[in-house]
Amino acid sequence: MTELLYMDSINDCYIKDFEATVESVDEGEEKAVILDRTAFYPLGGGQPSDLGTLRWRGGSCSVISVVKKNRVRHIVEGDLPKVGTPVIGEIDWDLRYAHMRMHTAQHLMSSEIWRRYRASTVGNQIHADRSHIDFEPADMTMEELKEVEEEVNRSISSSEEIFVRKLPREEIETKVENERVDLSRLPTFVKELRTVFIGREGAIDICPCAGTHVKNLSELVGIDILKRKSKGAGKLRVEYRLL
Ligand SMILES: [Zn+2]
Repeated sequence: MTELLYMDSINDCYIKDFEATVESVDEGEEKAVILDRTAFYPLGGGQPSDLGTLRWRGGSCSVISVVKKNRVRHIVEGDLPKVGTPVIGEIDWDLRYAHMRMHTAQHLMSSEIWRRYRASTVGNQIHADRSHIDFEPADMTMEELKEVEEEVNRSISSSEEIFVRKLPREEIETKVENERVDLSRLPTFVKELRTVFIGREGAIDICPCAGTHVKNLSELVGIDILKRKSKGAGKLRVEYRLL
């Protein structure tokens, strides 16, 4: 397993560069580097992968995508390092930070819409500039969504902190209502989940998640809900950006 350096604490999401050792390289059509540890976020959970650079004595390559298939594969363009080479990884921080802010805002919106309308989050796609979340069953009007926006922005102005902790699955099942977060798709052997708490003791939201998040809500500044679009069969897509 590749050690994921952004996982253990919320501060680890702010690691912009790191040292690692090359464990294997793929010299095929799609060149890839596998490291013993990485701070690069692989594509998943609606959050795009990080981009950046790997450097070593005498060479460098651009990381153009990161995917997780058993191991984390850094898809690269440029030179390939040799197995055993110590490298320095540097993440495109502006892009990652934009994703962290957007993703944290998604937790707030999903939580508020669940609280008000009992609509579950069934999909989401984060981008640096605009993102969307799919809710079901949902048919909120733009006026209602603007009330959600107001409430989320009140939460943001509380400047509450965000924490991550590993929790036993049974504890999450008692803390989080089943329709807010559907754990049924997780294999039964997963007994412990990294859980994101917004506010003290999760007063604003508690949600298991393996993504990257900011450590204080003040970093979001505010959300702006832009659009609603019915996707049929009781599904509603809500598009937003950050201020
Ligand atoms: Zn998350």
